Formats: sequence, structure tokens, C-alpha cells
Amino acid sequence: MAQITRRNFLKLSGGATALGAFGFPHVSMGAGKKVVVVGGGIGGSTAAKYIRLMDPSIEVTLIEPNKDYYTCFMSNEVLGGNRDLNSIKFGYDGLRKHGVTVVHDLVTGIDGKKVTTASGKSFAFDRCIVSPGVDLKWESIGGYSKEVANKIPHAWKAGEQTRILRSQLEAMKDGGTVILAAPPNPFRCPPGPYERASQIAWYLKNHKPKSKVVILDPKDKFSKFGLFTAGWTKHYGYGTDNALIEWVSGAQGGKVESVDAGAMKVTAAVEEFKGDVINLIPAQKAGKIAFDAGLVDDSGWCPVEGKTFESKKIPNVHVIGDAAIASPMPKSGYAANSQAKVAAAAVVALLNGSEAPQPSYVNTCYSIITPDDGISVAAVYNYADGKIGGVQGAGGLTPGYADTTMEMRKREVLYAHSWFQNITHDTFG
Ligand code: FAD
Repeated sequence: MAQITRRNFLKLSGGATALGAFGFPHVSMGAGKKVVVVGGGIGGSTAAKYIRLMDPSIEVTLIEPNKDYYTCFMSNEVLGGNRDLNSIKFGYDGLRKHGVTVVHDLVTGIDGKKVTTASGKSFAFDRCIVSPGVDLKWESIGGYSKEVANKIPHAWKAGEQTRILRSQLEAMKDGGTVILAAPPNPFRCPPGPYERASQIAWYLKNHKPKSKVVILDPKDKFSKFGLFTAGWTKHYGYGTDNALIEWVSGAQGGKVESVDAGAMKVTAAVEEFKGDVINLIPAQKAGKIAFDAGLVDDSGWCPVEGKTFESKKIPNVHVIGDAAIASPMPKSGYAANSQAKVAAAAVVALLNGSEAPQPSYVNTCYSIITPDDGISVAAVYNYADGKIGGVQGAGGLTPGYADTTMEMRKREVLYAHSWFQNITHDTFG
């Protein structure tokens, strides 16, 4: 991938945001039209807010079971002891101020033009936007389940799971082993497990230096591979006998088959590993409601038309975020936010009898290796020939150590924190 030219990227991504969010002419003709949004995470909250911004005459109801949302992004910093759990917690008052009706309930069905919930309510819609995120394939790891996750956390949905894993790391003795089992593709946040290993290693280096993290991976390569492994070599002795991070690839037998929570050990393809703390991140699929509503295909994800995010299975229902098949966009929060604006603009246009506007989309994923060393991957996407595709020459990767300075690498951490402020305000504010 081309090295990042930030000026070009910002130019293009700024254009993308403008086109996706604001390029659409302001209309107020959708009077009496109803949109129901399922899931108040990054995708759903952004879509609900932007529909109201684009056409305040449309009634928007957002249905989400939880009163607080914890962002997964920056949750790895909580695990590394570099951030408080409260700093990643967001409520829904901001959306209410935009006139979104927020209902705390679980959606159990989407049928015809109506959504039904666990408490027995039903909500009629003209168009529905579904952003339920991922569910974990518990069955992909023998002995793992929702109950076992209270002892062997996945922490792949932030909040209580993040708290459990952090407290286990704090309680662990110096000299302990943390097992981190990475998932197979495709999964939420491709660089996430490797940023997590970095953050945990940072904590161990500073508080329990005789300890280590062992990553067990079914894959032989992962996102930002060269940048992560160089960072681990620089900061965490990767590749030496005293390494704070070890990585066992799929070819080396890293695929975890089962867990024994009582004995605190996992069985991988070739051998068993004992851990003082075990963090299992199983394979993933679209959130349950996508299955119940018939929105998924055989892959376990939701096929959509990339210009509008309308489901290819059910008309008038749009799927965005992690649950949607939007390749080459990754399953990331920034992608969910970008897709939400495209879907919102399309829904507003379609409800007003117009054609959906020509979209463009953006994504950046930051990863923090140490509090002074960050990396990122960025891309801009367009829609052509019926498909989402990457824009040539836009985006790229942080340069390696040979081609950058530590000041620049530290700036990536500042950019990451600034991105966090911006996206959470954009989504919930
Ligand atoms: P979510 O944000 O998970 O929202 C789904 C919502 O739907 C939830 O609130 C859920 O309660 C609700 N829901 C589910 N089912 C129902 C139902 N039946 N009825 C009503 N509501 C329902 N992304 C980045 O861009 N940058 C990062 O640095 C980054 N770091 C990450 C680090 C980690 C450790 C992890 C795990 C992820 C990270 N991500 C990052 C990915 C990002 O968090 C997800 O891609 C993003 O949250 C996807 O948004 P979504 O709307 O699809 O799902």
C-alpha cells in the first residue's frame, strides 16, 4: 500500500464526509415518514442523528437495550491501565436533543414494515436501519460459553467484559502468562487483538516485567503486521528469550480448539497452553437479530447494496456496520460511522422520492503500541460499477521506524485520541 500522504488523505476524506453527510440537499418533505433504527452503537446512533439533521420532518426511533454504550475503541487503553473505563461510556441524551426517540428495549423481530420488541411493543416503519454489531460464535471454541466468559473474558464487547479482564490483569502475579486467542477472519477491528497485546505488554513491562503475553492465532498474518512486529521488537523484546509478547501463528499451531476454565488452559492445534489470565476472542458473525430477521446469507453476514446499504434480502431494511458485508471496508467503528451517513442520506432521499446520492466512504484505524508510539491505516472508498472500492492513492500506512521519527509516531497517538473525541461527539453528541 502507498505510504500515507496525509494532505491528500485529508483532502479526499474531507470530501468524502462532506459528500456523505452534508452534500445532500436539505429537504423537509418526508413529513409523517417513520424510520426505526435497531441498535444504538456506532452505526445506529450515527444514522439516527444524521437522518434528523438531514430531514427533521422524519420521525426517527432508535431501539437499544442498554442505557449506556461503551466504545470498544480505546477499551484496549483501559486494559493497559492508560485510561479509565468511564471515559469510554456514552449515553443517549445527545441523540434525544436531535429529536430521536430513544427506546431501551431489545428488538426480537423485523417483519414486513414493523419491528417488534422483547417487551411486546411494535414500531411501524417506512424504512428500517439495522446495526446490531457482531455476535460471538461460542461454539467455535470447545468449552466456551457466555457463562464461562465471566471467568475467561473475550472483552470484544466493551463494558463489564473490559472491567473483568482489566481486574484479572491487575490481580495477576508477576511472572504470569496472559493467553490472548485471536479470532479468524472476518472479525470486528482487524488490528484490535494486536493493539490489545501491545497495551497489555505495556502494563506488564511497567508493573509485572517477568510476565508475558502469548498470542495464539489461527492466522499467519494480520493487519499492520510489519508495523506491529517492529513495534513489539522495539518496545517489548519480541523475538528474544525475554520477550513480553510471543505470537504463535496458525502454521505454528496457534488455532485454539478448546478451553478448560477450571484448569485455566487452552488446547491449541499442536499443544496445550496454561494461562494465569486467558482472553479468548472467538470467531464472529452478524448480531442475532440479523439472523432472526432473515438478513444474513450463508456467510453469517448481511449482503447489502453498497450505494444505499439496503439489504439484498429484505426491501426497505438497511444494514450497516459490522453486520454488513461492505468489503473492502473493514469492520470498524469509523467504517460504521461512515456507512451510517451514506445510509442516512440514501434513506432520506428514498423517503422523499429521489434517487440515493452518489456516496463515498472513509476509514482510519489507529493502534497504540505504547503511549508514545502509534500507527494507523487509512483508506477512502468510492462506489463504482455497483461496488464499493478503494480510491487509488488515498490513504496508506504509517511509515516504519526507518522512515519516520518518534515525534511523528507520538503524533499518531495524539491523532488517535483526537479521532476518539471527534467520532464519539459525531455519533452521540
Ligand atoms: P456496535 O457498535 O457494537 O453496536 C451494536 C449495538 O446494537 C449495540 O449497542 C447492541 O446493544 C445493539 N443491539 C444488538 N442487537 C440488538 C437488538 N436485537 N435490538 C436492539 N439493539 C441491539 N473501530 C475503529 O474504527 N477504531 C478503533 O480503534 C477500534 N478499536 C477497537 C478495539 C476493540 C478492542 C474492538 C473490539 C473493536 C474496535 N473497533 C474499532 C471496532 C468498533 O468498535 C466496531 O466496528 C463498531 O462498534 C461497529 O459498530 P456497529 O454499529 O456495527 O456495532
